[in-house]
Order: sequence, then C-alpha cells, then structure tokens
Amino acid sequence: MILKRIAAAAVDALFPRICPVCNEIIPYYGLDICPGCEHKLTYVCGRICAKCGKPVDDDEVYCPDCARGRHVYDEGCAALIYDENMSKSIYRFKYNGKREFASFYGRVIEERLEERIRNWNIDGMIPVPVHKSRLKKRGYNQAALIAKQISKRLDIPVYDDIVIRTHATGAQKELGALERQNNLKKAFKVTRNVVKLESVLIVDDIYTTGATVDAVADCLKGAGVKRVFFVSLCIGRGN
Ligand SMILES: [Zn+2]
Ligand SMILES: [Zn+2]
Repeated sequence: MILKRIAAAAVDALFPRICPVCNEIIPYYGLDICPGCEHKLTYVCGRICAKCGKPVDDDEVYCPDCARGRHVYDEGCAALIYDENMSKSIYRFKYNGKREFASFYGRVIEERLEERIRNWNIDGMIPVPVHKSRLKKRGYNQAALIAKQISKRLDIPVYDDIVIRTHATGAQKELGALERQNNLKKAFKVTRNVVKLESVLIVDDIYTTGATVDAVADCLKGAGVKRVFFVSLCIGRGN
C-alpha cells in the first residue's frame, strides 16, 4: 500500500497532473482535480427527469423535451451539468489531447451514478463512436476513454467495435433537433451479432437533445438488444 502510494507520487512528480477545470498543474499529489476546482462544478442532484436525467421542477416527472417526444433509449443519467467550466474541460479533453481527464470523469461517474448503473444490469458498454476520419485526426474517441474508465471501476466490459459511425456528421451544434435527427439516422451501423447483449449502456461525454443516443439505441434495438440505457458525463439543463 505504502509502496503503491510512493509509486503514485513518483509518477505524479514526473508527470504532473493537469486539473480538468483550471487547466493548471494540480498542486497536490494523488489528486485528479484541485480541491477548489471540484467545488466549481455543478453536479446533477435533486429531482430529475425519469427518462433522461435532466434536472426538473418538483412537480414534473419528465423534462419538457421527454414529455414532448418519445426517445428510443429506455433511460439515462448524467453526473454533471454542462456549464461553462465543463464546456472548457471537455473541449480540452477532445481537441487539446487531454486524455488524462478521463480518469477524473470516470471517478465522478462512479461516485454519482454507480447505483443507478448497477440497477440496469448492464451486459456491456458501447461508447458513442466517432467516424474513422475523425479518429485518425484526433487519435482517440473521447467517449471510449470515459467508457474504459467506467469499465475499470465497475467491471463492465466495453465493446467499442460493435457500433461504427458510417458517416462523418460534422458539427451538430448549429442544427435544430429535427435536422440533427435526420442527419444522424443513417450515421451508425451495428457490425456484428449482439444477441448475447440484453442490456446495453451507451456512453457519451455530453447529452443535449438525445438525438445521438437515440440514433445509436435505434441501431442496437434493431439488431436485437432489448434494453438500451445511457450514461453521459454532462447534461444540458433542459430546453
Ligand atoms: Zn484546478
Ligand atoms: Zn428528460
């Protein structure tokens, strides 16, 4: 145990960890975020939408989005609110090569959502895939890095080759919900037999409209998966 801690401190000294919030070197050994920065994040808590896990008012069962339309996935949840701090953090994680943030993200998901995930009896996790052209450019799939951290902590296998992205859909941000949906409909494909998977957990970094999760869930259900859940690091406040 002591040796392990000494080894961890030595690794930290050689490769100082960068805080996923302030992007500075963390001034303590063995931490994955500055203690002060952890308090700057907004965790999802209180009453949440029974479908997507967004915070809702006390008298609501579903958020306006889930009350309006039918999602393909069964249920999902997220650990953090997608605010300015998380937006910057995920940007660095995705585009500035800060893969190491995944360990903090995985820890937060474990701490906040383990019970919920366990209740779903997940057979395997599927990170939302990126198109191979993007994978080549970036070198990694950010959702897969998060899934691997969850897998390590909760001992659930990751299958990152079952669903592939057949079209590069480009930036979705500027598109409306309907456009996103149409754009995404044919973007994913199941590559092999999934009959042994009854209950699957889709993993992503951000949940906004749910269009991406629905498109992947649609694919999986079409291939015979019975129940499809999602977990995402962050979620929008609702729309
Ligand atoms: Zn910090
Ligand atoms: Zn909802």
